[in-house]
Amino acid sequence: MTAYFIRTAALLLALAAGGCGQHKGEVFHDQFFAFGTLVDVSLYGVEPQLAESECRKIEMDFMEMHASWHAWQPGPLATLNGRLANLEPATIEAPLLPLLKEANRLSRLSTGLFNPVIGNLIALWGFHGNALPIGTLPDRAAIRELVAQAPSVENVTIRDSIITSDNPSVAYDLGGFAKGYAIDRAIERLRESGIQNAIVNAGGDLRAIGQHGERPWRIGIRHPRETGIIASLEISGDTSVFTSGDYERFFEVEGRRYHHIIDPRTGYPADNTVSVTVIHSDAATADAAATALFVAGPAEWLSTAHNMGIRYVMLIDTHGTIHMNPAMQSRIHFEPGIDANISLSAPLQ
Ligand code: AMP
Ligand code: MG
Repeated sequence: MTAYFIRTAALLLALAAGGCGQHKGEVFHDQFFAFGTLVDVSLYGVEPQLAESECRKIEMDFMEMHASWHAWQPGPLATLNGRLANLEPATIEAPLLPLLKEANRLSRLSTGLFNPVIGNLIALWGFHGNALPIGTLPDRAAIRELVAQAPSVENVTIRDSIITSDNPSVAYDLGGFAKGYAIDRAIERLRESGIQNAIVNAGGDLRAIGQHGERPWRIGIRHPRETGIIASLEISGDTSVFTSGDYERFFEVEGRRYHHIIDPRTGYPADNTVSVTVIHSDAATADAAATALFVAGPAEWLSTAHNMGIRYVMLIDTHGTIHMNPAMQSRIHFEPGIDANISLSAPLQ
């Protein structure tokens, strides 16, 4: 839902040969464009006809989800936001209901650092649009006013399928989480069809199940400032890896970078972090957590990860220091020549 057109395929499957509907050895690959990014589906040991039809279904699901969850184009979420702005109750369409409930739950766990109802702030910064804003900063007073209105999921009540809000500033923007939620749905669909070994990778954020034959899946984590990867990981079983970075959508004014991850407490882009990578079982949680920990920054990521039930984190701060918990350090392999200051935290239980 974010990062239209400029998010590149950040995290590359080390084993991916690419191409549409290709069957290389035991791995079937398919790629399509959704959520403003390239989605790569890799299926291991699946008969090509079944693989092809599963990928088409996933592609259709992604298109549908993207359209109905869009924060700024007409659709169910925009309609719901319009009603909440007038403090009118709204009926939540069935597919949106679990998505909004899960977004609210994760926001509470993150103590509001992942805040899916700051759509007005995101719009004020100009990130509601396919093109990036050039050269203009939002009015300071307007930012201050939106921060003072403090929209939060605590303002929202969902009963059955009716949503109400007591704060006219509440506007859902699911850009920090919808892609993870969509990937979880894709994995669910694959499992229902009996597929055990797969990766669904959307612009570098992914969930894997099973493994690549006898060996684990190998994935890379994009370097936040250079082309190529900074580190790699081996994953098997049910694992999601999500990265939030200040390089995904940003503009510069007078040499300063203004990116798309907003600290709801200040109304400005969170300014101590460059990227955060989170490993977790489900993709929706990993996605929300990567955004929350980005905002939490070097001082608060550990407590926020703990509150959100996250066990593996790597955060690169604006000085280039790499913060990690010990369990993450034991899983990650840095590329040769990466010579960074590493700050190891207490264990995350
Ligand atoms: P991600 O790349 O997953 O970190 O998501 C970034 C996107 O999430 C932005 O483009 C916004 O649409 C939205 N967003 C920005 N700041 C926040 C925040 N503090 N909490 C939740 N969503 C946010
Ligand atoms: Mg996210």
